[in-house]
Amino acid sequence: MSVEAAHRPLPTVAVLATGGTIAGEAADAASTADYKAGVVSVDRLLATVPALGSIARIHAEQVANIDSKDMGDALWITLARRINALLAQDDIDGLVIAHGTDTLEETAYWLQLTVASTKPVVVTAAMRPLSALSADGPLNLLNAVTLAANPHAAARGVLVAFANQIHGARDVTKVSTYAIDAFASPESGVLGWVQDGRVEFQRRVTRAHTVESVFKLDVIETQGALPAVQVVVSHAGASRAIVDALVDAGVRGIVVAGTGNGSIHATLQQALADARASGVAVVRSSRVGSGHVMRNGAAPDDALGLVSAGTLNPYKARVLLALALAHGWSELAMLQSLFDQY
Ligand code: ASP
Repeated sequence: MSVEAAHRPLPTVAVLATGGTIAGEAADAASTADYKAGVVSVDRLLATVPALGSIARIHAEQVANIDSKDMGDALWITLARRINALLAQDDIDGLVIAHGTDTLEETAYWLQLTVASTKPVVVTAAMRPLSALSADGPLNLLNAVTLAANPHAAARGVLVAFANQIHGARDVTKVSTYAIDAFASPESGVLGWVQDGRVEFQRRVTRAHTVESVFKLDVIETQGALPAVQVVVSHAGASRAIVDALVDAGVRGIVVAGTGNGSIHATLQQALADARASGVAVVRSSRVGSGHVMRNGAAPDDALGLVSAGTLNPYKARVLLALALAHGWSELAMLQSLFDQY
């Protein structure tokens, strides 16, 4: 280390804890499936990684302590508001969110569209509870802080640090129910790697994000919640009952996780066409988990008034559709252009 480096003050990284398995505990160290997520405090979690002290000064906050399967709009709004406030401070250089893996990709994409800063924002998590033999959370947290403290991580959108890999919020998805390398970015691949204190990027994301996003958190905060948007799945024997019930319940948008290239069972497709005709916005995505949905490919989008989600998975398509509807954008061409941009 050079003399100047030795005297350079450490960057300050905010760590916002929301719960998840990274803050999970089991009755014994051999348990990796039977445990409770979201019980360990952020201070206890940070204390398991003394090496953090040589990477950054840590500003820790416990925003929530939940199992991320229970994530919802209210916490998303609170989280985005707090992140924007912290990143607006001159004395915060980067930020890490400790989260559960189950809805990590949805929260990361929500933040990708609502965080208004170019400072590094990194989401991390764990597959094994903190109490487990070979718990992966402490090293993931160390790597996440290493990444958030690195100026090269700025202006790349919201990042996910997991199992030494760096993923982009738009493309990352959970691909295993148990493996410790549980995340992948199908089609696009990782953005880079963080390992042994080093950060290496191999590509940039091209879709609009953060400071380029047209979505304003103020608009959502004024409304208090996101418009109701739900996901339905097409499958053999699909009926129209769920779509009809959602329309009766007053839902504003529906994302269909179609089979293959977004194809939809004829019965469900008719129900969705009827929903669209009654004013509900409908987005066509795929349940496959990789690949893209071609506009007017496996279903006649123009004729039915459907939006194609492209490479966005159904759960992230739900986030984008809800944000668009909250801003009053429900017309087909506008929705399609947002899905083409974000
Ligand atoms: N159910 C947990 C959660 O998402 C799973 C995990 O974090 O790995 O909070």
